[in-house]
Amino acid sequence: MARGRNGGTARVPSLIVHGGAGPEPADGRDELRDGVRAATDAGWRVLVGGGRALDAVETAVRVLEDHPRFNAGRGSALTSAGTVEVDASIMEGDRLQCGAVAAVRRIANPVTLARRVMDDGRYVLIVGDGALSFARSVGVAECDPETLVTDRERRHHAGAAKTPVGGGTVGAVALDRHGTIAAATSTGGRRGKLPGRVGDSPLIGCGTYADSTIGGVSCTGEGEAIIRVVLGWRALDYLKEADDPGYAARVAVDLLVEEGGGQGGLVLLDWRGRTGYAHSTPFMPVAWMSPALAAPLVPS
Ligand code: ASP
Repeated sequence: MARGRNGGTARVPSLIVHGGAGPEPADGRDELRDGVRAATDAGWRVLVGGGRALDAVETAVRVLEDHPRFNAGRGSALTSAGTVEVDASIMEGDRLQCGAVAAVRRIANPVTLARRVMDDGRYVLIVGDGALSFARSVGVAECDPETLVTDRERRHHAGAAKTPVGGGTVGAVALDRHGTIAAATSTGGRRGKLPGRVGDSPLIGCGTYADSTIGGVSCTGEGEAIIRVVLGWRALDYLKEADDPGYAARVAVDLLVEEGGGQGGLVLLDWRGRTGYAHSTPFMPVAWMSPALAAPLVPS
């Protein structure tokens, strides 16, 4: 098989997952941490079984899309019209193949739809009703949109709950044994957003990026600010310069705050599998796993 960039070089696998940057949750911090731990476990099983980084990030993100506490898939934030419209993207860093969907309704696992866009290969980003038609054409099941709406989000929409929820956008970055890096991000977007609003998560270079010679990244936070500074790509540029994932993550988040004028966070890993993360918000659940660890590490 033709491979480019880093792919094909044997590496030790690594995976990092986030569950969204946001305010301190009013309740259920442990539930959110358990969620990212379970997603990391699921993705890790793919990697240790010799699976691809792309399958690992898709698997990890699907776990959180199915989890009602996170703002992705089921549990997504509602638009001002009380509907769910989701955004997602996925990318592999060998041949820079990527796929994304935005402002799409009736899809429970948008990361899988993004993967189908990538695998199809004709386009990078498909939006709205076009994305739904594409889903039908490739056999991705449509769901009853009501099944994506949780009581928690319904209460928020009705103005009955003012406390922060804490579970946010979800994302994952993985390095597989073949040296390929992949990244994916999925979100319901901002609460009360105008129908049709699209954030950073489905935009390659903003919410998600992967280059197997450098690393991969998934971002979360104020999408408009993340787009302004092209945060995903900038984080990898810092990583290339500094060769230090923790430092690159911190400098990128500083850029988001200082130049983008917004708050948020990101997770990344480099071509060696070293992970890093940073956030300017009070809370961002994170978990990561490598062969050196007995179980996913979930910082408190
Ligand atoms: N970045 C997402 C968006 O703006 C939201 C988030 O990460 O919380 O759509």
